[in-house]
Order: sequence, then structure tokens, then C-alpha cells
Amino acid sequence: MKRKVLLAEDDPVFRELVSDILQEAGYEVVAGENGQEALDLLLTRGADMAVLDLNMPVMDGLELTRRIRSDERLKEMPILMLTVRSYVEDQITGFDRGADDYLTKPFDRKMLIARLRVLERRILGNA
Ligand SMILES: [Mg+2]
Repeated sequence: MKRKVLLAEDDPVFRELVSDILQEAGYEVVAGENGQEALDLLLTRGADMAVLDLNMPVMDGLELTRRIRSDERLKEMPILMLTVRSYVEDQITGFDRGADDYLTKPFDRKMLIARLRVLERRILGNA
């Protein structure tokens, strides 16, 4: 069965690109344009893993990560955070809030999938 990835990204072009990359790698994707929309999708449709942009309107990736980590049913979900920011402080904040890994845009599509596979293997186990 395909693993489902929750994608939250406010840039429509980038959202489409990452969605395509994930689907080509064999994942099912549910995508929202901000953290709130992604949280609603997660609560109604579920997901196994999350790829979250840090900077988004309405609710950013840090707040969405905090919500996921404070929900008993969701807190073990692997979270990979994406950002254009390369400041160390932002990466540390992401980890403090519960992100499992971090990729700075732009990134190689193979690297995105490689990082996701690591999280999948280590946190979810091989299905
Ligand atoms: Mg953004």
C-alpha cells in the first residue's frame, strides 16, 4: 500500500513540483496551501508522513509541527521541513518544535526522496 505524504507549501509552482516528485517516487500526496489547510486535510484524510514548508501564511510550518507533535494520534509522524531560509537559528527552531529533518530550497529531487526514505525506514519501519 502506498504511503501517504501530507505536503504543506504556499507557493503553487513549488507545491506542484514537490507533489510530482513525491508521486513519481510512489507516494500518495495530499497537499494544502498553508498550515491550517494541511492540518484540516491531515485530520480528515490522514497521512503517514509530512513535508512542510516553514514560511506560509495563516499557519506556518513551525506551528503545524507543534500541533502535530501535541496530538496523541499524530505525534510520531515523520516530519521533513522545507525552507528557503538557511539561517541556523531557523533550523534549530524547527528541530526544537519537532521536525525530524530539514532541507533548504532549492534541493535536489533525489535528495528529498532519499531523506524521506530515511525517515520512513527509521520511524515507520519497512512496510
Ligand atoms: Mg513558503
